[in-house]
Amino acid sequence: MKTTKTALAFGQLEKGLTELLESGDWQKYLTVQSKFHNYSFNNVMLILSQFPEASRVAGYQRWLEERKTGKKDSKSIKILAPLKRKVEKENDKGELETKTGIFGFRTVSVFDISQTEGDDLPEIVSPLTGDDQGLINRLTAFSHQNNVPVFFKGLLGRANGCCRYDALSGHPIEIVVDPLLPKQHQAKTLAHEIGHSLLHSRTQYNDHIPRSQAELEAESIAFIVLHYFGIDSSDYSFPYVVGWQQGEDALENLRQSGMRIQKAANQVIEWVENHCPTLVAA
Ligand SMILES: [Zn+2]
Repeated sequence: MKTTKTALAFGQLEKGLTELLESGDWQKYLTVQSKFHNYSFNNVMLILSQFPEASRVAGYQRWLEERKTGKKDSKSIKILAPLKRKVEKENDKGELETKTGIFGFRTVSVFDISQTEGDDLPEIVSPLTGDDQGLINRLTAFSHQNNVPVFFKGLLGRANGCCRYDALSGHPIEIVVDPLLPKQHQAKTLAHEIGHSLLHSRTQYNDHIPRSQAELEAESIAFIVLHYFGIDSSDYSFPYVVGWQQGEDALENLRQSGMRIQKAANQVIEWVENHCPTLVAA
């Protein structure tokens, strides 16, 4: 019974990814995303210190290209751009090699999307709002008995959660979830990190499974677990999975990991059902 339900959810995941991949929206979204820089940790801190509510930041020229114009009197956000130059260095074998070195920084002005006006940017990945249906507590209980305690505390950068590993053994030691996320999104994030803790040891993560595949597996587990208990995370999970796959290979990779995903999802679902009987499956 459980296995059938999990398989059905997996089928839904497959169908959802196919639809997303075939929709023009996805291509549009990727194109816009690729134009935005990924800012360094230091610059993220600089941006947030000057503009705490910043959500998407780019230079003036970039905003013009995206058909966004600046609002009057907007004060720019200052970040640091590295000044690079080529240097010649001797390698281990005594040969000269040309490398790019950073020899300083200059200040660059950027603006947040809220300081601009114009067409909306395509936005596909949306956070899950709504009730967690008691899943946060149940999933936390699962992870505790699995020897991976869960903590709800702020995370630096843009991550919603993470699974931390012991440096020596490579085993998962704790899961952290951002408590500022909406409740339902916390439950989804927790299920995702539990997925990592069940399937990906530190060494596996780094050496044997590409990050893209590990993310596909973790998010698919989250989707199936939530789906089983009556929460639909497709608005977030489908674009997340496809985003890590760069589109093309998503379905093939999903099928390849199908058994691993369903087995891990079943493990979580079965434990929760047996130990937290008040939570009724939808
Ligand atoms: Zn992950």
